[in-house]
Amino acid sequence: TRAHIDAMDRNRALNAFVTETPDLALERAALSDAKLGKGEAGAMEGLPIGMKDLFCTEGVRTTACSRILENFVPPYESTVSANLKKAGAVVLGKTALDEFAMGSSNMTSAFGPVINPWKRKSDPSARLVPGGSSGGSATAVAARMALAATGTDTGGSIRQPAAFCGLVGIKPTYGRCSRWGVVAFASSLDQAGPMTRTVRDAAIMLGSMVGHDPKDSTSAPVAVPDFEAALSGDIRGLKVGIPKEYRPDGLSDEISKLWEAGVDMLKAAGATPVEISLPHTKYALPTYYIVAPAECSSNLARYDGVRYGLRVEGSTLDEMYAKTRAAGFGEEVRRRILIGTYVLSAGYYDAYYIKAQKVRRLIADDFAKAFETVDVILTPTAPSAAFGLGETDDNPVTMWLNDVFTIPTSLAGLPGLSLPAGLSADGLPLGLQLIGRPFDEETVLRVADVME
Ligand code: GLN
Repeated sequence: TRAHIDAMDRNRALNAFVTETPDLALERAALSDAKLGKGEAGAMEGLPIGMKDLFCTEGVRTTACSRILENFVPPYESTVSANLKKAGAVVLGKTALDEFAMGSSNMTSAFGPVINPWKRKSDPSARLVPGGSSGGSATAVAARMALAATGTDTGGSIRQPAAFCGLVGIKPTYGRCSRWGVVAFASSLDQAGPMTRTVRDAAIMLGSMVGHDPKDSTSAPVAVPDFEAALSGDIRGLKVGIPKEYRPDGLSDEISKLWEAGVDMLKAAGATPVEISLPHTKYALPTYYIVAPAECSSNLARYDGVRYGLRVEGSTLDEMYAKTRAAGFGEEVRRRILIGTYVLSAGYYDAYYIKAQKVRRLIADDFAKAFETVDVILTPTAPSAAFGLGETDDNPVTMWLNDVFTIPTSLAGLPGLSLPAGLSADGLPLGLQLIGRPFDEETVLRVADVME
């Protein structure tokens, strides 16, 4: 824990943590020492981790990287963070994210961008993004400030930053992790998961996060398997789906080659690649950008300056609402609220929201059909390596396109894992994604372990 706190001090310029809690961490570490001495260690006893600042932590400020929650100190603890603490994890602090987890670069945080510790060979001075929205967690783990960290993933926010920072990240099946106490973005998509340096670490940490929670009505009452035991090293006879629709025009040579190398690796380990079709893939991004903003506009209605969070006074109640929300929300969050309010409004609800729900079903059905013949699906995680701060244009859609490979999985509620699969010509990490059947994180982990 001390070594990691020192690393946090040295790497403060990367801006990975919003709130550091070294004293609490040292106190907890001492308790872990005692437990280890008595043979009472939990699965994560004494392991120092970062906690994405979207998980409510009792008595420790939780901001969602938004001005509207800048001074919010929750009186309760999220189930996932409570589970981790119960397993012995030592929390070093709260890691930065895109505001309310909306973004793919960490550039929408109200507290400034996070910097990826990886450097381009051709230009080591360029400051690269860690991806997002769990970018603070990704940087913290990649820069050795934390042994592991929690992330949340609505459309790719664990997997894409894991890929950009050379880490393993899992978005479990929807319902595997409790959402209780996690600041909500899009409730039908949000899932928590681990971000780690190895597949084994991810398996151990996932096991400490999950489990049925009666406080979350969408938490699945399923047994928690021993994820680590699933890492048998044997994938002979497994069928691996390669979806032909994941080769969009303009997919870079580098990513295509990475993907092919992944297929070769699986073949060498005795698995069989099978071409599959997920015909509705091309509708996933537009569908997500209706469903997610719709749910966001509803979830974020609670920030009204009345119950908690920022309040900017006005002469009437309406003026107070308007001033509070205008001052509290950043540009991307406002954009999502506006889109969401529009697609849910009378007259447009059927044309957009209901239509999107129907397409979402077709996307999920594509996967269900594919999983009748294959055990797992392999795709790239992101269309590129980490990009530089200020290298994107002003069009928000450019940023949204980063999640083309991760969003279909989210809409279908399936488990998806990103693992480091190689380096770009410029020396940056690239990731491949494995997608599994509902609640079959074990197969995903087993395959990832063999590929690692
Ligand atoms: N980048 C996507 C978005 O902005 C996904 C974010 C996430 O998974 N939280 O909505």
